[in-house]
Amino acid sequence: MRRLLILAALLSLHAVSTALAQTASTVTKTIAERVAGLRKLDGYMPLYWDEASGRLFLEISRFDREFLYQVSLAAGLGSNPVGLDRGQVGPSAAVRFERVGPKVLLVQTNYGFRALGAPAAEQRAVADSFATSVLWGFTVDAAEGERVLVDATSFFVRDAHGVADRLRATKQGSYRLDETRSAVHLPRTRAFPKNTEVEVTLTFVTTDTPGPLVREVTPAPQAMTVREHHSLVELQDDGYAPRRFDPRIGFVPLTVYDYASPITSPLETRWIQRHRLQKTNPSAQRSDAVQPIVYYVDNGAPLLIRQALIDGASWWSRAFDAAGFPNGFQVKVLPADADPMDIRYNVINWVHRSTRGWSYGESVVDPRTGEIIKGNVTLGSLRVRQNIMIASGLTSPFDGRNGSCGFADAPEAATLVPDASDEVVTGLALARLRQLAAHEVGHTLGLEHNFAASTYQRGSVMDYPAPLVTVKNGELDLSEAYATGVGAYDIWAIQFGYGQWPAADETAALARGVDDGLRRGLLFVSDEDARGLGTAHALGALWDNGPDPIDALKQQIQVRRLALARFGLGSLPDGLPLSLLESRLLPIYLLHRYQVNAAAKSVGGAMFTYSVKTATGPSPTPVLTIVSPERQRAALATLLETIAPPFLALPSKLLELIPPTAYGYGTGTAEPFARRTSAVFDSIGAATIAADFAVSALLQPERAARLIEFHGRSDLNPDFDEVVAAIVTKAFGASAPAATPGAIARAVQELVATRLTELASNDAAAFEVRAGARQALRLARGRLSARTDAAGVVLRQTIDQYLRQPTPPAQTAPLPTPQGEPIG
Ligand SMILES: [Zn+2]
Repeated sequence: MRRLLILAALLSLHAVSTALAQTASTVTKTIAERVAGLRKLDGYMPLYWDEASGRLFLEISRFDREFLYQVSLAAGLGSNPVGLDRGQVGPSAAVRFERVGPKVLLVQTNYGFRALGAPAAEQRAVADSFATSVLWGFTVDAAEGERVLVDATSFFVRDAHGVADRLRATKQGSYRLDETRSAVHLPRTRAFPKNTEVEVTLTFVTTDTPGPLVREVTPAPQAMTVREHHSLVELQDDGYAPRRFDPRIGFVPLTVYDYASPITSPLETRWIQRHRLQKTNPSAQRSDAVQPIVYYVDNGAPLLIRQALIDGASWWSRAFDAAGFPNGFQVKVLPADADPMDIRYNVINWVHRSTRGWSYGESVVDPRTGEIIKGNVTLGSLRVRQNIMIASGLTSPFDGRNGSCGFADAPEAATLVPDASDEVVTGLALARLRQLAAHEVGHTLGLEHNFAASTYQRGSVMDYPAPLVTVKNGELDLSEAYATGVGAYDIWAIQFGYGQWPAADETAALARGVDDGLRRGLLFVSDEDARGLGTAHALGALWDNGPDPIDALKQQIQVRRLALARFGLGSLPDGLPLSLLESRLLPIYLLHRYQVNAAAKSVGGAMFTYSVKTATGPSPTPVLTIVSPERQRAALATLLETIAPPFLALPSKLLELIPPTAYGYGTGTAEPFARRTSAVFDSIGAATIAADFAVSALLQPERAARLIEFHGRSDLNPDFDEVVAAIVTKAFGASAPAATPGAIARAVQELVATRLTELASNDAAAFEVRAGARQALRLARGRLSARTDAAGVVLRQTIDQYLRQPTPPAQTAPLPTPQGEPIG
């Protein structure tokens, strides 16, 4: 034992002395000697490429000076559900090099905790109270005066973006980086005056069975190769003043814990994220910008699309013009020799994936101030095809000869003449792309979503827009499907974020501007208060339209009926198999889904604002108003129309047109309904999917708890008991019927019973909510008492069993809802 220890000590001594000897011998070399014969990439931080060894060296001449370190994913996996897309940007870090003897440490400053404007000792006390992070330790390879050279190959050729973690988190297998199949990617490793860019090819390997999502998109799934990108960027130190955040306008906040704030003030200081934009003449109301904000559109986007992206992104020019910068915002095509990864370009990338998915706008942000250094927009190319799908489903433009298949119970169908051409459909898709480009650029200008804006004349491109389809003279009209410019809220927000006034006037000017927008009713509702099905704000909804969500649902029901009436062979271009009709039918049959969610927010819903106390009281007012009892009940009645069999049934003429999936078309981008009928279209299953939107939205535990809360505040408001009783009555009838209802009605009954059971068993729901759900099951059971058909008897027994025992009985799980978002 003892001998072993001594041997180990000797070995480690030997290792240390060898390492020291190596360090000593290499450091004696000058940089010039060490890099002789290597290829130099000169720029912000010079790089040297050693072709013979495949090593990349970094020359460091600035120590203890902060710069920005940014990792991104230059070439992705191409799978939307995994979420490793080309152009994805990771978090930004403010870092500095520290030299300690033969080592150079890369240290990330902790900017979450500060003492703003305090004396140096106070700042140091805060800085030393919280951890920093040393991201890497380099060994000095050569030195010359203040400059050192380090071998940075291992620093760059590593999984800095967290690809392996992401693959594990999405259950695609445990991949590890294989260094033998990884290398520096020279074509996109470049140095510029203000930034040094390094790209690496990384191969991740696994001996597990690769997950299905990786298998779908990777030629040899055991080896998955992507490229990660490192940016080292100069940080500007002066000339940018952070702007205070205001919760009434949806800018992305940067929050700092400020330990120098007066003890009577909040600890947190909140600033907005925004680009730097300054007037050449700060005292003028309108002035040229010292440096305008320029966005560059991907030169890899097809011409037609590229133009739509330029047009849409350019909408923002109007908002900047209104903020006093006539040419403050510009859009250009990325020059052929420019690199979209170059930090100096704000870019709009056109990205391909195997399935349609989200687009997003991300920003490289100075963590010290919230200044946006680079806007990076990623647009998924397949969304435009989803638009074509919806538009062609709505208008059935492809064939005038066969006419529509038609609903027997829709007399309007007889008068419909297909008038929409291919051009109309393409036009609609391009209109959506313009809006999308504006939306994503909006994020990179610092704006968050505003999910109330669709309720006031398309107040913002930062809402999620559903195509507005109206009925004109019995015809579906798509001429105003999408916005054609930024909205009043957008102009107001840019004025707040980017307006510039002489320093003495700024605070007053900002306050005046905020008041002015609030007076004009420019309501902001955030993601948190809109995205969930159970959220409280009556006007916070996604993919909805119009000022009145209940009226809009009524209109959507009418549009859906007309669209289904003309749906048929004309919805498909010549030459495609008829089985593809199903994927075109899907978005039309489920057209109501988002407007259902929007209308449901009036049930147990409230209107509120992120009000701020001012000298004159809360601003804006009212602070919170419960939706009127009449409107809550009107919303409930309209929602329940969508679970009735006449709404859900498809005509047999249409069902006869849809064969099982054509041979050879089994995979691909077409999205079918889930089914229990093997290859045959499952119209009963589809009906439960369509009915589930209203049932599930109404039975959200948070909504149920609010109904009880609001009824407690005033018994004029509908209680949760009233809402569940209405659902049960709609699905099961007002009294116990003896006759067996139709197949769709039976399926909806089962769905309602299942969702009520889930709510009654949901241990996160309030006690009274669960009690109400059980009571509703008892009511449903009573309505089934006279039924003698198998489904009626078994459903009754299932409910009985559940009511006797607290554990949920074995029930058939409802069919999963097809992917809906993004709808274009
Ligand atoms: Zn968005």
